Amino acid sequence: MEDFESVNDNNDRLPERETMVEEQLVLRGIRNKELLKSMVDVPRHLFIPEGLRDYAYYDGPLSIGEGQTISQPYIVAYMIQALNPDKDDKVLEIGTGSGYAAAVLSRLVSMVYTIERLDSLAKEAEALLKKLKYDNIKVYTGDGTKGLPAEAPFDAIIVSAAAPEIPKSLLDQLDIGGRLVIPLGDRNTQELILINKDMDNIIVRRSIGSVRFVPLIGEEGWEK
Ligand code: SAM
Repeated sequence: MEDFESVNDNNDRLPERETMVEEQLVLRGIRNKELLKSMVDVPRHLFIPEGLRDYAYYDGPLSIGEGQTISQPYIVAYMIQALNPDKDDKVLEIGTGSGYAAAVLSRLVSMVYTIERLDSLAKEAEALLKKLKYDNIKVYTGDGTKGLPAEAPFDAIIVSAAAPEIPKSLLDQLDIGGRLVIPLGDRNTQELILINKDMDNIIVRRSIGSVRFVPLIGEEGWEK
């Protein structure tokens, strides 16, 4: 792997990222300027296994091993934009995978806590994020369907794997005024659901599109 002093030094493959952002995100309606900037800055190719790096800026998901995927750039952007992130937010991500979405988010918010079920992926993502000096991300190995009670409540929660229903623990750990985005449905296709916990603690949910994610496996998700 290449060596960098910091993420900000990394102009490698920058033209490809600029094209990705313009053609895959801006032309499809992603408008959040900080988010677009973050996706220009974060070196997506480093989050992808070496053998697939030529395709790093392709308009789709890619395999990251262990039967898991790094999501399509547009889906990463669409989910993060839907969360309406704020610079003071404390965010929980379920499904670290490669660590890419956590890296993109970390430039927009105060702190990202991210949980991955598979220890090998969690360890790899943690090492890469540390090497690239993303200092406001904490990676955990475990069952993310139960959230992270020790750090709750969260201003926003992003679930990057598909569940049969919303894990109750995650709803409980969402702060008043908080937003949660999660793919819900069966194992093949899902609706992306955006949840708002309003000031009266009322849960408002709406569908914001159709998606296809790997399953969320755990106590409050799918069985293995
Ligand atoms: N956000 C990731 C990225 O940027 O590379 C992509 C996430 S991938 C689509 C979904 C991930 O969720 C997989 O790595 C999978 O192992 C993980 N996962 C599935 N069930 C989980 C659970 N209960 N807790 C934590 N992670 C889980």
